[in-house]
Amino acid sequence: FLPHLVASMEEVDQTYIMIKPDGVQRGLVGEIISRFERKGFKLTGLKLFQCPKELAEEHYKDLQSKPFFPKLIDYITSGPVVCMAWEGVGVVASARKLIGATNPLNAEPGTIRGDLAVQTGRNVVHGSDSPDNGKREIGLWFKEGELCAWAAVQEPWLVE
Ligand code: UDP
Ligand code: MG
Repeated sequence: FLPHLVASMEEVDQTYIMIKPDGVQRGLVGEIISRFERKGFKLTGLKLFQCPKELAEEHYKDLQSKPFFPKLIDYITSGPVVCMAWEGVGVVASARKLIGATNPLNAEPGTIRGDLAVQTGRNVVHGSDSPDNGKREIGLWFKEGELCAWAAVQEPWLVE
């Protein structure tokens, strides 16, 4: 088994996952990271970070005109977040499924929001909504040198 024979590069996506300040405050960091780990995705970036207002506004710029935007920026900057880059075949869509619906009351049991949250304004985790946004957001939240490309020994046991 040779890792480089596993998945061709174009099948592998990257997503930006972030544990929001409520997830950190509630002690859910390990619980949330473990769900992505157990699924079989590869962690390529990880840090605890106090987000400046400007970065929160840039990250959520598509929602600028929404009435909840100011509260969303206050929420995201209210304490440290855990920034993560995850890589894998179909990781963007799959991570969105693991996270569950935006409103935790509509999120299925078994999903992160379905199991661990009750309100849209405190929904514990972010996940990119497309491969392009995954790349954009990883570029926004991580500096050069903060990401690690590595071969996981389990890869041939995850992808045929
Ligand atoms: N949000 C909110 N009120 C709303 C909709 C969204 O506070 O009515 C917040 C919520 O934290 C959500 C984030 O804004 O996760 C981004 O919204 P989006 O529609 O992109 O949801 P997501 O992609 O996070 O599921
Ligand atoms: Mg979104």
